[in-house]
Amino acid sequence: MQTGKVHVALVASPGMGHLIPVLELGKRLVSHHGFSVTIFVVTMDASLSRSQLLKVSEITDDFLEVVLLPAVDISARVDKTIGILRQMAMMVHEALPSLQSAILAMEVQPIALIVDMFATEAFVVAEEFMMLKYVFVTTNAWFLALTVHGPNLDKEVDRDDHINNQKPIHIPGCEPVRFVDCYEQFLRRNKVYFRMGTEISTADGILVNTFYDLEPRTLAALHDTRKVGLAPKAPVYPIGPLVRPIEQSLRGEVLSWLDMQPKESVLYVSFGSGGTLSAKQTIELALGLENSQQRFIWVVRPPVENDSAATVFKSNGVYNDFRDYLPEGFLNRTCKNGLVVPKWAPQTEILSHPSIGGFLSHCGWNSSLESIVNGVPMIVWPLYAEQKMNATVLAEHIGVATRSKLLAPQGVVGRDAIAAMIRKIMVDKEGEAIRAKVKMLKSCAVKALSNGGTSYNALATVAEECTIGMQ
Ligand code: UDP
Repeated sequence: MQTGKVHVALVASPGMGHLIPVLELGKRLVSHHGFSVTIFVVTMDASLSRSQLLKVSEITDDFLEVVLLPAVDISARVDKTIGILRQMAMMVHEALPSLQSAILAMEVQPIALIVDMFATEAFVVAEEFMMLKYVFVTTNAWFLALTVHGPNLDKEVDRDDHINNQKPIHIPGCEPVRFVDCYEQFLRRNKVYFRMGTEISTADGILVNTFYDLEPRTLAALHDTRKVGLAPKAPVYPIGPLVRPIEQSLRGEVLSWLDMQPKESVLYVSFGSGGTLSAKQTIELALGLENSQQRFIWVVRPPVENDSAATVFKSNGVYNDFRDYLPEGFLNRTCKNGLVVPKWAPQTEILSHPSIGGFLSHCGWNSSLESIVNGVPMIVWPLYAEQKMNATVLAEHIGVATRSKLLAPQGVVGRDAIAAMIRKIMVDKEGEAIRAKVKMLKSCAVKALSNGGTSYNALATVAEECTIGMQ
C-alpha cells in the first residue's frame, strides 16, 4: 500500500469472537484517523474465504486490506489434553513465517503491529522489523487486570489460598475476583496464560474493548502510574465499545417477525457462536420461557450429548430436529409468542430492533457490548472461558444484568427461576434500575466513541504515537 498515509498492521488470532472486533478497530483507524491498515488473519480453516470475511464486516474501504495468512494445520500435534489457549498459541506460532514474509514483501512497511491478546507471539515479528507493538484486548479491563496480575500472583501467593481454600484474588485497585468467577486457565495455572500476561505488559500500549463509564474502577487501577503491584507497565487505552455494525440490507423471517411485535416486548436468547446446554437445562429453559409469558426469539442448539437426560428423548443421542429435545407441545403452545431459530441468527440486527426488550446471553464480550450499545438489559448465563467474569462485571459491577445464583455447570436452573429472571428484566418493577442503567450506558457509549469522547481520544493518542513513529 503506497498511500502516504500512516500504515499499521493488525493480527487477529483464530475465532470470529477475535476477528470481529479486530476488523472494527481496523475500520476505525481508517475512517477516523486516516490510516491505511492491513489485517492479517490467522486461520486454521482453509475454507474461510475472503468473501466470507467481507460479509461479516462489510469492508468497503480502499485503505483497509484483509490478508488471510495460509491456513495452519496443527491437528496432527493436538490431542484432547491440549487446551484451547495452547492451541491458539501454536497456530499463531505456525503462522509467524508467513506473517514475516508478508511484511517483508510490502512496499511500505507498517509502523506498528497491533495483535489481539491471543496473538502476542507475533511480537517477535514486530521486534524484528522494529515496529511499535500494541496488544488489543477484545474483552474487558477486569479480565486484562487479572491476566497481567496473574504472573505476579503466581510467585507471591500460596496456591492453596485461592485454589484449595477458594479465597478471592485481590488485584490492587480492582474488585476482587471470586473463586467461582475465576478464569479456569488461571486456576489451572496454565503456563500459556501466564506467559500471555507477561507478554502483554511488554507492549508499547494496551488497547481494550471497553469504555470509561463501563469500568471506571478497573481502568483507574490500570492507569495508576504508581502501579501498586499491578502490572502492566504499558499504558492502557480503553477504545470501545467496538461492535459489528448492522447490515441494513439484511432482512429475513426473524426480522420480519420482529417488525410485527410491540416495542421492547421480545427477549432474545442466544449462547454465542458455539455454546450449548445440557438436555435437562434445555427443557427447563423452554418451560421457563413459556411460563414467563413473554415473547422470545431463541437460537437453539442441540443439547450436549453426554448428558444423561438426553437418553430420555433420543436413545442414540443424535437429534434430527428440535422437536427431538424440546418439551412435548412446546413449539405449538408458544408459536404465537416465540420464534425458535436453529443454530445462528443475525444478532446485531436483532439486538438493534426496537421490539427487543431483553437478552438472555452466555455473555461473550462481543454479545455483551452489542447488548449495551443497543440499551438492552441482560440475563447473564455464562458457560466457559472468561464468561463468568463478564457476567459479574455486567450484573454486579455495572448493574445492566441479572443472573441466577445457581450457575451452570454447577446445577440446572429451574423453570420458575428462569421465568422470574425474564419477567424481572422485561416487565417487573424490580428490573427498572437495570433497564434505566443500560439505557444510560447506551448514550455513554455513543459519547465515548464520538469525536472528543474518551474512547475516541484514547485511540487518537495511539494514532498520534504511530504518526510520530513514522517521522
Ligand atoms: N453471533 C451472531 N449470531 C448468532 C450467534 C453469535 O451473529 O447466532 C455473533 C454475535 O453477534 C457476536 C459473536 O457472534 O458478535 C459472538 O461473540 P461473543 O464474544 O459474544 O461470543 P463467542 O461466540 O466468541 O463465545
